[in-house]
Amino acid sequence: MGPWLHRRFGPETIARVFGSLPEELRSDLDPSSSSLGALASSWYDARIYHHVFDALLENVPPEEHASLARDAARMVLEHTLRGIYAKLFRLMATPPLYARYVQKIWDMHYDTGEVTIEHLSPSRALHRVQGWTGHHPFACVVNRQSGAIVYAMMGMPHVRIEHEKCAWPICEAVYSWKV
Ligand SMILES: [Zn+2]
Repeated sequence: MGPWLHRRFGPETIARVFGSLPEELRSDLDPSSSSLGALASSWYDARIYHHVFDALLENVPPEEHASLARDAARMVLEHTLRGIYAKLFRLMATPPLYARYVQKIWDMHYDTGEVTIEHLSPSRALHRVQGWTGHHPFACVVNRQSGAIVYAMMGMPHVRIEHEKCAWPICEAVYSWKV
């Protein structure tokens, strides 16, 4: 998320926003580094991303949040799946495997929340997140947009989000693609 924040909002804004975090949350972070100088896990302290997203989105109109989230999701995924991993992923990943491992992938990013994928048909999948105590509406859109990008990266054509609902404690998205 760090490189995207820097590119999208600029180092000065990022420094200001992180500087306004309460002292105890700031100690492990270095806002001038694109990795934020943090172990991924400290950024994922919900109090940090809640504060940062709220501050950054204050002046962004709500209708622009989805495209902003898509941009963030794409950059984070491209960063995670680089080079050989991206190739392997394209070759080996399938919607059933994604469904099987989605909780493990989720747990790499967040420490609460149960996520399931139910295939409604061979080309439609219902993703459901529940009990995510770190829920933030923008992080939730980033997650839903990530789902669509993951299907596209697995080679599914014409992926779209057919339906989505952000209503903590249960958030859902239905993805469809052509078979
Ligand atoms: Zn949500």
